[in-house]
Amino acid sequence: MPKAVTAYCMQNVVYDQTMRCANFIVKKPMVIGHECAGIIEEVGSEVKSLEVGDRVALEPGISCGHCSLCKAGSYNLCPEMRFFGSPPTNGSLAHKVVHPAKLCYKLPDNVSLEEGAMCEPLSVGVHACRRANVGPETNVMIMGSGPIGLVTLLAARAFGAPRIIITDVDVQRLSIARNLGADETAKVSTDIEDVDTDVGKIQNAMGSGIDVSFDCVGFDKTMSTALNATRPGGKVCLIGLAKTEMTVALTPAAAREVDVIGIFRYRSTWPLCIEFLRSGKIDVKPLITHRFGFTQKEIEDAFEISAQGGNAIKVMFNL
Ligand SMILES: [Zn+2]
Repeated sequence: MPKAVTAYCMQNVVYDQTMRCANFIVKKPMVIGHECAGIIEEVGSEVKSLEVGDRVALEPGISCGHCSLCKAGSYNLCPEMRFFGSPPTNGSLAHKVVHPAKLCYKLPDNVSLEEGAMCEPLSVGVHACRRANVGPETNVMIMGSGPIGLVTLLAARAFGAPRIIITDVDVQRLSIARNLGADETAKVSTDIEDVDTDVGKIQNAMGSGIDVSFDCVGFDKTMSTALNATRPGGKVCLIGLAKTEMTVALTPAAAREVDVIGIFRYRSTWPLCIEFLRSGKIDVKPLITHRFGFTQKEIEDAFEISAQGGNAIKVMFNL
């Protein structure tokens, strides 16, 4: 039995290849990893809520706790945030980490450590669905069938979304999304000239208006498609940060009162994610496609597979 697991996120691929993700720049060697769970080996003398041997999922960000954002509950926006694997803070891809007890959530017996680690990406989808008020009357579009697109699909369904369409450039990804419960899929292009064609394709497939779109990619093309495909008065949530700068025509969105909502990580999502996993309302197991140990060779293979994409969704390290 592994004592800890950490999953590999595309953000790590971005750091490995470019040393930069959004405004975070890697300036010196850093331990990566932020999707993790493990077994407690030691607790501090003041800790009452946890004991040695407990299986826990870790929320990776440590906020300051006293700024106005933290006090208002929006601690994900704390300017003092220290987050596993975001420079300069080391990540969780290690045999042991030290972490505050309040950010360690006990896992029920029927939720594995690997599923516990999946609370992190799932939290992004849950936070986005909360921000967009997804419910039983919300028809949803998700741009991008990568790991975040797929967890957003699972979250939107758990929040009650009746109809969900998901898009991608890769048909293999679309078939994975369909197996995970997407009602409709649309193959889209990367060419900005195709926005109108893609919007038509998406609207035809859905038949009814799209109330909320989640852009899980973050390119000019995906954001333009989302803004144009969403019904007047709807919402577009920007989750993906593929580009630090985007050029997007906003006037059509303004004229139709489409709200743009930013999504940065998550807040207060672990208890709900764990409950979704415990109850079976969300099954993340199909997203875990590859498992590796922690030798040099296995780490290199895992990074290679993650960077290729294709049918690799989540790659887990068992430590
Ligand atoms: Zn703060």
